Amino acid sequence: MTRLDAILKRAIDGAVLTEDELEFMLRLEDPAACRELFAAAYLVKCREVGKGVYLRGLVETSNLCTRNCLYCGIRKGNAEVRRYELDLDEIVAGAKLAADFGYGAAVLQGGERSDARFVEFVTEAVRRIGELPNAPQLTLSFGEQTLETYRKWRTAGAVRYLLRIETSDPGLYAELHPEGTLEGRKAALFRLREAGFQVGTGVMIGLPHQSAAMLARDVEFFRTSDADMIGMGPWIPHHRTPLGIAHPGSRAEDLRRLELGLRMIAVTRLQLKDVNIAATTALQSISPADGRERGLLAGANVIMPNVGGLEHRADYTLYDGKAGMDENAEAARRKLDGSLAGIGEFVHYGVPGTPRHYLKRTGKTE
Ligand code: SF4
Repeated sequence: MTRLDAILKRAIDGAVLTEDELEFMLRLEDPAACRELFAAAYLVKCREVGKGVYLRGLVETSNLCTRNCLYCGIRKGNAEVRRYELDLDEIVAGAKLAADFGYGAAVLQGGERSDARFVEFVTEAVRRIGELPNAPQLTLSFGEQTLETYRKWRTAGAVRYLLRIETSDPGLYAELHPEGTLEGRKAALFRLREAGFQVGTGVMIGLPHQSAAMLARDVEFFRTSDADMIGMGPWIPHHRTPLGIAHPGSRAEDLRRLELGLRMIAVTRLQLKDVNIAATTALQSISPADGRERGLLAGANVIMPNVGGLEHRADYTLYDGKAGMDENAEAARRKLDGSLAGIGEFVHYGVPGTPRHYLKRTGKTE
């Protein structure tokens, strides 16, 4: 039995793997070994969370942000961005479209702001979406907020929150984030838990100065922080950001990061087992034909199709070459149904897809 066979057997049997074992799998490059890894992760996915994909209709509510993360295309310092803010009717219309499509869940995502007007605006959007017939379950992603704000949004009706940690390595985190600290980020994740949210986090994969050992520690962070959902994807440079200018990259590097991203999904599935894991748009952006589908076959079980209008898509460009810029929500839905059928997967329509991990840790049934 090879070392990989032995590790995969332990993972399938339910063991918690060591950081050394996680790093070993993240370093795999041989195609046959990678196929073995992905097959094991897919098996664990089907056993732990079932076959099939849960959809969350994504509404990108605004690209206004008070922060300056070095990798992000909508950072405050990028003066070339045409700033926008959807109004309440536009946001509710996006969530309604998700419900009409039978997605069962929607995500409101935007830059980080914490002024009182913004907090009230999001609260009102959540309330109004909750009043829709067949209201989709709501996920929010608006960065670090106070416990009071998280409680307010939870009370208004939002049930999930995504707050990516981007990297759990203190040195790399500090390098990339002029504002905020890793400890502050972790504290915000605890506040989300305290406010009663189903909590999602995640990282960027393939960053300059990021090692496989750091990524292995990221997976351990996901496990020890008891995350319910993981959203992560390969880092893709944006030409108007300090990181993208310093490391413009190449097609070959994008493809290398895609493969590493897929291994990261597989390793996370093997270690965390019952969480929801998103096949993110970054996978699709590097490989439009099959990026997200490969993510599903490596252990992911969630996709977040954009249900917002086309008018502001190009203004919400976090990285270069983002997929789906000119594709309306209806066309994207049809295409997705077809591509999933092609890999033997399918959409769970009309159900919210609450993470099994959350149900287990709370004893709830839905
Ligand atoms: S990553 Fe988020 S917080 Fe950072 S600049 Fe971009 S939108 Fe703002």
